[in-house]
Amino acid sequence: MTPNPFLVPVTSLRPPLGGRQHVVRTGRLDGLAITSSAVPADADVMVDADVEVVDGGVVVTGTVSSIWTGECRRCLNPVTGVVVAKVREVFERAPRLREGDLVAVDEAETYPLTGDTLDLAPMARDAILLELPLAPVCREDCAGLCPACGVDLNEQTCDCAEAPINPVWAILDSLRVAPDDVEGGAGGAGGAASSAGRSGAGGAGGGADGAASSAGAASSAGAAGSAGRSDAPGVGDDVPPDSA
Ligand SMILES: [Zn+2]
Ligand SMILES: [Zn+2]
Repeated sequence: MTPNPFLVPVTSLRPPLGGRQHVVRTGRLDGLAITSSAVPADADVMVDADVEVVDGGVVVTGTVSSIWTGECRRCLNPVTGVVVAKVREVFERAPRLREGDLVAVDEAETYPLTGDTLDLAPMARDAILLELPLAPVCREDCAGLCPACGVDLNEQTCDCAEAPINPVWAILDSLRVAPDDVEGGAGGAGGAASSAGRSGAGGAGGGADGAASSAGAASSAGAAGSAGRSDAPGVGDDVPPDSA
């Protein structure tokens, strides 16, 4: 069994209080995997950090890094990258006993400092697991797979490539059909109403724009049905009293 490379002898970190030491440790850590990505079993994890001695423990500040592999969530091709997690963690001999002191250095949980060694492995594991990508993509503009036929749209096109657009056209079609229906059903009335409005405005003269348009709006609904029989004379008779 190989020794844990993430162990740092605390004796080497003995006072002066506040003294810093730069520590780099590299080694394997098992089980660094989430659903979408993982650190390969044969990949090293590196801790590169300053270790500072404080009263009752040490503070570790630096980075934990490794490589990760996963599957692009859009095209499902293998994808790999680098994971770099920043850390600032407190290791305490007596966690929870020094509330308001060491705990205040970092709101996160502290790690225990037992015996004469500082074990950076649990911190490294936590940091990597938090930083592994939840939804990796091979590149920001990955086109993904065709939802209909499954071809990789980064590499080829397909006849169904426009399928995702169809729902949009369907909506536009439905919007376009609605006026058609109205026009088809009330085409005659619409035509009569607009001509009645025009003749009314003409009768009222140029000075009665507001009255003419409101009369037109009112009469286009009301007069639309009667426009056929009342025609110009009826509308012309109505307008002068309204505008006067
Ligand atoms: Zn992709
Ligand atoms: Zn397709």
